[in-house]
Amino acid sequence: MDALIADVRSRLAVAERVVVLTGAGISTDSGIPDFRGPQGMWTKDPAAEKASHIDHYRSDPDVRRRAWKLRAASLARAAAPNAGHRALVDLERSGRLTCLITQNIDGLHQAAGSDPDLVVEVHGTMREAACLSCGDRMPMEAALERVAQGEDDPPCLRCGGILKSATISFGQPLVPDDLDRADAAARSCDLLLAVGSTLSVYPIAAAVPLAASSGAEVVIVNGSPTEMDALAQVVLLGSISEVLPAIVAGIPPLS
Ligand code: ZN
Repeated sequence: MDALIADVRSRLAVAERVVVLTGAGISTDSGIPDFRGPQGMWTKDPAAEKASHIDHYRSDPDVRRRAWKLRAASLARAAAPNAGHRALVDLERSGRLTCLITQNIDGLHQAAGSDPDLVVEVHGTMREAACLSCGDRMPMEAALERVAQGEDDPPCLRCGGILKSATISFGQPLVPDDLDRADAAARSCDLLLAVGSTLSVYPIAAAVPLAASSGAEVVIVNGSPTEMDALAQVVLLGSISEVLPAIVAGIPPLS
């Protein structure tokens, strides 16, 4: 393991354009459960999965009221970034990070100090609410304050439309601009670091073969094997919040 960590450190030290792709595994040490594992929220609460389909959400006020109750009670809102998120901020400050693509909706990269302009949240963010009609956005806390004041399904203040967390629900398309940014970053990096993702959810997992076929090295850090291990120069299996700080420790600034 020490040899693999040293190997990745030397690859990062000579890289000039690094793209990082993160999935749920980087946030589990912050206490955020994944959705589909044995302890996942959808496994334990099938109604929550129903609420996550946009058609049900649009058509059924009961689904929306229940969703707002779940948002108000969500422990994920209080979660704090961990050493893994902070290590990626150190990588950014070394001058190498060109894009941080994340499948997570928890906002913990920005909370750790990552430059919001470098973060592409392909599945949206739970930190904001968005109107399904006019697209108006507000902080999630502002919408939840209205729920706390007694509105069990608060409408958009601008147009009266339906408000939802600004995440991509089942049945909603991904944002083309976000996919274009991820695609361009993957094509132009010299090292892609994939962290905490099984790399099985498309189209974003395609960033890995895209980077590889464009000549980039691939490093994978995860708790278990991924679909893309065969494309990687190095696969580090272990605790993400321990491995990431180790591989960026002492990284020299890009001159
Ligand atoms: Zn609206």
